[in-house]
Amino acid sequence: MKNKLILLLICFVLIGIGTACGNEAKNKPDQMSASNHDMKTLAIKEKPPAERKKTISLAAIGDILIHDRVYNVAKTKEGYDFKPFFKKVKPTLQAADITFANQETMIGGEEIGLSSYPSFNSPYEVGDALKDAGVQIVSMANNHTLDRGEMAIQNAIHHWENIDMKYVGSYKDDLDRSELRVIETDAGISVAFLAYTYGTNGIPVPEGKDFLVNLIDEDKIASEIELVKEQADVVVVSYHFGNEYERMPSEEQKYLVQLAADHGAHLVIGHHPHVLQPIEWIEGKNGNHMLAVYSLGNFLSGQDGLYKQIGGIFECEISKTFGENERIEIHSPKFMPTYVPYGEWIVTPMHELTDDELPNADTHYKEIKQHLSQYVPELEFKEEQ
Ligand SMILES: [Zn+2]
Repeated sequence: MKNKLILLLICFVLIGIGTACGNEAKNKPDQMSASNHDMKTLAIKEKPPAERKKTISLAAIGDILIHDRVYNVAKTKEGYDFKPFFKKVKPTLQAADITFANQETMIGGEEIGLSSYPSFNSPYEVGDALKDAGVQIVSMANNHTLDRGEMAIQNAIHHWENIDMKYVGSYKDDLDRSELRVIETDAGISVAFLAYTYGTNGIPVPEGKDFLVNLIDEDKIASEIELVKEQADVVVVSYHFGNEYERMPSEEQKYLVQLAADHGAHLVIGHHPHVLQPIEWIEGKNGNHMLAVYSLGNFLSGQDGLYKQIGGIFECEISKTFGENERIEIHSPKFMPTYVPYGEWIVTPMHELTDDELPNADTHYKEIKQHLSQYVPELEFKEEQ
């Protein structure tokens, strides 16, 4: 009993001290915070508010051109599996905030019969593999869009919708075409995509169905860039253009790239030559800066020959400065050249290649780096995933 009383007494004393200390401690910060507040007010008056800047990364890959020799290797008991072909590049494709691909062959599915060059139709699983690898938007506007007619296009679109993949440049109807392709990012930067092709290998566009494929038309391109600029921060134009197997851009490519820059596009992604062409900064008529990748080459195809087996992952950063002086900057272009060993079809970063996979791999890698960066010496080559 006596012990308990003593214990109780100690408790009272301790609580008393605690409260006193607490009060003392509480008073001090109050005084501090008052003076802090004054200092803060002073600081706000003297300094303009800091601008807020956010940055995203955008990656792009070239032609996904699926010959029979490619889909035959992808065949499984249940269907097709193209995922192993992307396993070495998947980390890089997934790391970007937005990843774009040129789906050159329509994925019309087995139900209408698969086919190879010159009139392609590919399995749906090609789309599944791109989705799995981290691609978020595909262009369908190219010279093979109409290879197997409207059915292949409609089947492909149906599958893209099923797997929640955005597509651009070919549409199911006029209403679909009128809906802009804009990707909203968590950083608060919106990116719009437009896509056009020079032609469709002589196959006429079905009457009254222009929505099936976006053809290059200067006035249309100019007005559509102007239109999307109002509704998105960044405008990316995908062009299927140029001359096959030429490693340098043609006069026509340069002209169309300048047209995009003059109307305020931020980036041109080019494809069709099936080989890599250099990257270049272009100045638009208003002094704006645009990046042009004239040709991304083949990313996954059954084509044979050194330069046709080389493609790569282009990447750049896009920054938006928020506030009164809102602006967009495109910067830090990077590239990861890739090589596809014939018959195996596994897209392999060139810096990882052994001489067994490609004789004199290092010499070829160096030459490709020099070729790509000839107009942009600061181009960085990615050797980490
Ligand atoms: Zn093409």
